[in-house]
Amino acid sequence: MVKTTKEVSKKTKYVYFFGEGKADGKGTMKDLLGGKGAGLAEMSRSGVSVPPGFTITTEVCRYFYKHNQKLPSELNIQFNQAMVKLEKLTNKKFGDENNPLLVSVRSGAKFSMPGMMDTILNLGLNDKSVAGLSRLTGNERFAFDAYRRFIQMFGNVVMGIDKDNFEEIIKLKKEQKGLKEDTELTADDLKNIVEKYKQIYKEKTGQDFPQNPWEQLKMAVDAVFKSWNNKRAIEYRRINKIPDDLGTACNIQVMVFGNMGNDSGTGVGFTRNPATGEKEFYGEYLTNAQGEDVVAGIRTPKQIEELQKEMPHVYEQLKTITSNLEKHYRDVQDFEFTIEKGKLYMLQTRTGQRTGLAALKIAVSMVKEKLISKEEAIMRVKPEQLDQLLHPMFDLKERIKYKPVAKGLPASPGAACGRVMFSADDVVKEKEKTKDPLLLVRNETVPDDIHGITLAEGILTATGGMTSHAAVVTRGMGKPCIVGCNAIIIDEKKQEFSVKGNIVKKGDWISIDGMTGEVIIGKIPTGPSEILLVLEGKIKPEESKLYQLYSTFIGWVDKVRKLGIRANADIPRDAKVARLFGAEGIGLCRTEHMFFAPDRISLMQKMILSETSQERRIALEKLLPLQKSDFIGLFEEMEGFPVIIRTLDPPLHEFLPKTKEAAKELAEKIEIPEEKILQKTQSLHEFNPMLGHRGCRLGITYPEITEMQAKAIIEAACELALKGKKIIPEIMIPLVGHINEFKNQKEIVVRIAEETMKKYNVKIKYMIGTMIEVPRAALTSDEIAQEAEFFSFGTNDLTQMGFGFSRDDVAKFIQEYVEKKILKDDPFLTLDQTGIGQLIKISIDKGRKVNKKLDIGICGEHGGDPESVKFCHRVGMNYVSCSPYRIPIAKLAAAQAVIEQEGKIHYTFK
Ligand code: PEP
Ligand code: MG
Repeated sequence: MVKTTKEVSKKTKYVYFFGEGKADGKGTMKDLLGGKGAGLAEMSRSGVSVPPGFTITTEVCRYFYKHNQKLPSELNIQFNQAMVKLEKLTNKKFGDENNPLLVSVRSGAKFSMPGMMDTILNLGLNDKSVAGLSRLTGNERFAFDAYRRFIQMFGNVVMGIDKDNFEEIIKLKKEQKGLKEDTELTADDLKNIVEKYKQIYKEKTGQDFPQNPWEQLKMAVDAVFKSWNNKRAIEYRRINKIPDDLGTACNIQVMVFGNMGNDSGTGVGFTRNPATGEKEFYGEYLTNAQGEDVVAGIRTPKQIEELQKEMPHVYEQLKTITSNLEKHYRDVQDFEFTIEKGKLYMLQTRTGQRTGLAALKIAVSMVKEKLISKEEAIMRVKPEQLDQLLHPMFDLKERIKYKPVAKGLPASPGAACGRVMFSADDVVKEKEKTKDPLLLVRNETVPDDIHGITLAEGILTATGGMTSHAAVVTRGMGKPCIVGCNAIIIDEKKQEFSVKGNIVKKGDWISIDGMTGEVIIGKIPTGPSEILLVLEGKIKPEESKLYQLYSTFIGWVDKVRKLGIRANADIPRDAKVARLFGAEGIGLCRTEHMFFAPDRISLMQKMILSETSQERRIALEKLLPLQKSDFIGLFEEMEGFPVIIRTLDPPLHEFLPKTKEAAKELAEKIEIPEEKILQKTQSLHEFNPMLGHRGCRLGITYPEITEMQAKAIIEAACELALKGKKIIPEIMIPLVGHINEFKNQKEIVVRIAEETMKKYNVKIKYMIGTMIEVPRAALTSDEIAQEAEFFSFGTNDLTQMGFGFSRDDVAKFIQEYVEKKILKDDPFLTLDQTGIGQLIKISIDKGRKVNKKLDIGICGEHGGDPESVKFCHRVGMNYVSCSPYRIPIAKLAAAQAVIEQEGKIHYTFK
């Protein structure tokens, strides 16, 4: 392709030296430099001690994938210039035999993806320069330790050699010499290990380990870019909704060494506790170690407080630097550091991942500390994180019956109980067989376990600290997790673990408490969260700190949001929960659910099996008082708030028995011959019931059903009104596609309502509206709005009919659609804004043109999905309606939509 003049003259800057870029609150440079690169740049500029280095931008990664894994030709010059600059700054030379410059090559995308992509340390070493490094440092052991680590990492990351091949060699050496720790190996041991490593490398790749540092560097940079698309990174992005086309940056940085003796070390930390959000300096480190030892969870690290005793000066410096970083970024920082012979270097700072509890605590605390505004606080809690806080805890009465057998580090809160599995693959296999909850128990997890972690209820590891892979990943997912539980001894071959004389085998039940770190053998039922217990009046608000945090936060959310929040609730108990969560009415009561109750189903069946309208009326007469009492219950719970009750919707055959045995049983119960029941079931059979005789089509063909339901609703309202209660009924007609369908049903409802109010001699203010769930209704909303007083988008059916995807059969292919990127999300979970969303917009525009005051909401499943709720705000709906437990999420998403729309705050969550 011929380049235009503009393209040729425009020189793209692909390489940024640390200090050139800026990661301000808007994260502008994060797009280009990635989170790690931007953080290093910012720290370098503000004078923090950072080993020099440079970042190859994410643009290069995108180029790499667009051009068949080739790097742009202009990169070479910029890259070489940056390396020369590094040599000058350090007074060392890349590849020099006597004074070698060693670098790390590390990935770093815009959003943190802990442990998912690749890193290579100690690059630049070869058979000659290792001797130089040894002379230079006077520490031969260190030099060969660095070299063996480099061969291992390079072999694994760049050439794909299984780590176990290398680990086996070290293990054997330690066994031969009767040693326990890697640190006890001598220089000669390590020299010998290096030789064996090189043999493995040759055996597995057919090539000698590359001795040319430039070749090493080129291969490492390629590997980092390739790691953007490794299996676990793709899986992580899918789970965390990180776009696939962002690409990663690649950071090349001068090595500093934490493995130079006992005055050296390396660690990671957070400026606040990432599990609880408490304002406490929090971290872990290892002396005489390199970074990967801490993160991989191979050795259990020391708590940061120890550093205060071991190296008080470094501790104070670290505390000052990191608390300044927190103030600068006005958010919790997750940092990495290395101490080389008593000198502190910062290697990373980024926004810290946190649990739902920590997110809430940090957001509320930072407002109180005047670090951030209330709006920022609202933007800093993900709706899903709020959801975590409503998750189960152990049933306390059951919990006290058990004594924990071990205690590990509480890495991610929440209670979980499940059957033990020892590998991620086993979790997946078992999940296919059974619905039982499962717990993954490992010595340590690795990024490749992500598929098992996703499906497990919780994770327990024997080693590793609060920043190990398992801890970081589960915290992000809001899954209970305990790490570093040294008391459990796992025998993977036997598929069991032992703990204090007990043996727990694969498939046995255990329970873990991610809040306390306790491991319990046995199956303890989990129960509702403290927030729920307070809402239900089971414990007092002042007894729950969690509830106090929640209510402060939700108070801010309620002030900001503009969308109303209603609940989908069919029975008084659900309506009660909905009110406790602050629902402002019911957006959908599916009346058919009432008919499935054991005392009603046979009456309903009798009604369906009736031969004549007369017979049907008799059966309906019996159903009327039952429906009425349900409505009374709902109205009472929602007194003063609107309650939308929908007339009968599902195809009738759903109520009839599915098997011959069930038909026989029913025949005896309702005294109708079995033969007749089977005949009727057959006659009601439809090839495509979701598009068949359902919704308003039922009310049109059997008007007596709509009559009974309208009568039950209005009678219930009249009786309560006579007792002085404020009742606001709204009657909703389902599955309307043509205005005449609506008119037909409206006529019935109005007639019955008038008659009923006359009978009771009261006037009730009620509304009649419709669901918009058939595409034709959306397109003719101007006609429908002339008759309907409200619209409620039934986006389950609207998605079904808009896409032509059967909602009951979609599971067969939708996952593959998402994996193959045909669709970004399952459209039944997250609204398809471009297609189905357009039908909604058209409908709202047309409807409001006719009736400016038209009350509009949504009652499909999307009403509880954060992205969809934001869409509902943007298109001007009045409210969303969702299941009671999703109300807090919907409220938060609604408030965030206001803040995003006003454009006041830029904050990226990931
Ligand atoms: C809908 O279709 O979105 C809806 C709420 O109705 P149902 O799920 O009962 O069909
Ligand atoms: Mg529907």
